[in-house]
Amino acid sequence: MNSKVLFNEGKNYIPGGVSSPVRAFKPYPFFVKCGHGSKIEDVDGNKYIDYCLAYGPLILGHSNEELVKSIYEDLKLGTAYGAPTEAEITLAKKVVDRVPYVDMIRFVNSGTEATMSAIRLARGFTGRNKILKFDGGYHGAHDYVLVKPGSGGATSPDSLGIPKDTTKNTLSVPFNDENILEKVVLENKDDLAAIIVEPVMANIGCVEPKVGFLKLLRALCDEYGIILIFDEVITGFRVSRGCAGEYFGVYPDLATFGKIIGGGFPMGAFGGKKELMENIAPAGKVYQAGTFNGNPISVKAGIFTLDKLDHIFYKSLKDKGDFIRNSLEEFKDENLLNIQVVGLASMFQIYFNDKPVLNYELAKKSGTDNFSYYFNHLLKNGIFIPPSQFECCFISNTHSQEDLEKTVNIMGDALNLIK
Ligand code: PMP
Repeated sequence: MNSKVLFNEGKNYIPGGVSSPVRAFKPYPFFVKCGHGSKIEDVDGNKYIDYCLAYGPLILGHSNEELVKSIYEDLKLGTAYGAPTEAEITLAKKVVDRVPYVDMIRFVNSGTEATMSAIRLARGFTGRNKILKFDGGYHGAHDYVLVKPGSGGATSPDSLGIPKDTTKNTLSVPFNDENILEKVVLENKDDLAAIIVEPVMANIGCVEPKVGFLKLLRALCDEYGIILIFDEVITGFRVSRGCAGEYFGVYPDLATFGKIIGGGFPMGAFGGKKELMENIAPAGKVYQAGTFNGNPISVKAGIFTLDKLDHIFYKSLKDKGDFIRNSLEEFKDENLLNIQVVGLASMFQIYFNDKPVLNYELAKKSGTDNFSYYFNHLLKNGIFIPPSQFECCFISNTHSQEDLEKTVNIMGDALNLIK
């Protein structure tokens, strides 16, 4: 069956025909047959250079041969035990060794669970109820954080089914706006348990913090006893070996992880200072549990992946990111295009916007029709990027120079047609 037929068939059994909303794009999404290295192949016989990479996890590309071989051996030993394994300690040590602000870690199954649990821990530790997030920050699909969310929440209306009582303690302010931030923190200083932030806002495209913004967050949290949570589900092990806190030189109290830490298998995690983490059950009184927590296959894939990620790896990935960003910048200047080329390390995006994008409000002013045209042109020519202006593109170590050159040429064609 081809993608169109599968989509129509799937809609009868699966809401909207997809298992997660961002996967549905018009007129219908392609259905995947397989992925190898930098390429993903659909059931219709098309092959695409993939910059979606499952929305971030596949930093080693699709189906890394060595990883698949070693996981195949692991599978023979069982897939879940409901009892601890040595591999969990190995992975925990690797994270603690790399990330300067993580002393202890709990493995869960998704980024959503990670942020839900980190927020509970912050509330349990401080005895306070309120949390502060940023407009367009996406922290998963649980009730407390679906307030002005990015990602799929940027394109579909506010979710039904969330009681007002659940979100009354969630405050949301614009990213990169020091004045509003300081005002709202001051007004709520005695009730704020946590500030949760994506250090790079990657669910409204790709917006970096202004110089000093993360430092200000750190200072406010220190002053008022608020727990600073970096949601590193995307930036964790993506922007550098020691994650975004190391990259920007600002350390949070807690950090949440997902995507890369599971090496392409389902996994999330949260970690941070020992004095905080020791409050997690069974060591402490903040409850957190999961049948598949620390799943042996995800953990082994995580170990395999982190072992590959040394400084040379990140340098080479940054070079690839620089090539794409610089080529697009040159193209923009030569052709006087009204776009913004953004990103860092192996993350990039284009905004169809004539002004720099500093936050969600400004991101929303970008030309989403132009973005759709751009996305479709790329897709027709064998390049797959996330289908929304409010997502970010990722690069793996398997993207070759030939892939990158082909990509910027096709992007250039699309941008010229839009002009
Ligand atoms: N936080 C951030 C920053 C994310 O980007 C995402 C997912 N894209 C999540 C949390 C939720 O992770 P998951 O989809 O694994 O639940």
